[in-house]
Formats: sequence, structure tokens, C-alpha cells
Amino acid sequence: MRITPNDRVLVVACHTDDEIACAGTVCRFAEIGATIHYYAASIVETLDAMVAERLAEIRESIAIMGCREERALWDSIPVRLFDMKRQTILDRLIELRERWQPTIVFGPSSFCFHQDHVVIHSELLRAFRTISVYGYETPWSDNGFKPSTFVTLSQGQLSKKIAVMEAYRSQSFRHYMIADAVSALSRLRGILCGSEYAEAFECIRDVV
Ligand SMILES: [Zn+2]
Repeated sequence: MRITPNDRVLVVACHTDDEIACAGTVCRFAEIGATIHYYAASIVETLDAMVAERLAEIRESIAIMGCREERALWDSIPVRLFDMKRQTILDRLIELRERWQPTIVFGPSSFCFHQDHVVIHSELLRAFRTISVYGYETPWSDNGFKPSTFVTLSQGQLSKKIAVMEAYRSQSFRHYMIADAVSALSRLRGILCGSEYAEAFECIRDVV
């Protein structure tokens, strides 16, 4: 992976908040002037009041990652039913590929067993055949994640990653939404690559 100002980054979140997994790296891209795009396949909730709350959270999250709202998009694919919407998802990813022309894509890894992540992972492979694709680490639903790429993070970038997590106040009840846990995993990944903090990725395809 290279991090350059000319990159056009696309973050593919299966559900809003999945971007926490790569937020530090995305902030690192943004800080040197790369263009950040964001797509979430499901904003999860269906009640109007909840949608409004979730949209506010998404907007806060993408702002931290340096993504302007006109470069973000979200759909309402029903949670745990992505498998029934495969072609819809693939069509959307292809549309975003043509519209935003990303140079690097972050999405779910092959180690994740969440049924929706499994679908998005396989459709990423179809939609982005000629583009670098990296799988992010989601320890709450990964089965033996094996990192092959490490991105070092500064203290400031780790703080932004935690701020992205904390933007999702409606999800704070989840057992993995804990700042200490995010920090500890980043510290562990840093130890494995000789840095204070890092994020780990599965290199799915690297195009140089
Ligand atoms: Zn998810």
C-alpha cells in the first residue's frame, strides 16, 4: 500500500460504523490531501427518528475522516439480508467505481463471518477487479484475522479513530464499542510493525 495525495480512497462500510476499522488509515490519507469517499450499504434502522439519528452520526464520522458529504452515499439494504440483494449491491459498487474512480478500496476482509460482510467481500472482488483492495479488521466478527499489511498511526490518528467510534452514540451499547479496546488493538498492531500504533489489513489485491 502507498499513501499519496493523488489517491482516491473508497471506504465501503457494510453497516454504518464499520468504517471504525480503517478510520485511522483513512485519516492518514486525508491528512496529506487524498480524496476520501464513503459508501454504507445499510443505515440499519427503519424508523424515521432512528434514521435521523443515524444520519447525524454518519455525518459526524465522515467529517472526522475528511470526507465531504457530496462524496458519501448510503443505502438501506436490510441487515442480514444482503444475500438477497447481491445484484443490487454489485450494481451500486460498479456505479461508484465509475463515478468516483477510486485508486484504493477498503472493505470487509475474507476473515469476517458476518453474513452481510461475506456478501460485500465477494462483491468487492467482482466490482473492483483492477483496483487495490484491502480488508479491514473487525475483531468482533472475524475468525482468525491474519494481517498482511500494517499502516502505522500517530497518536492523533488513533484519537480520530476513537472519535469516529464515539460518533456512533446509538451503538455504544455494543460490547466492542470501547475506546480502550480500540486503543489496545491499535497498540498491539503497532508492536507487530515497530510503531506505537497501527491498523492491520488483509491485502486482497495490490495494484502498483
Ligand atoms: Zn458490519
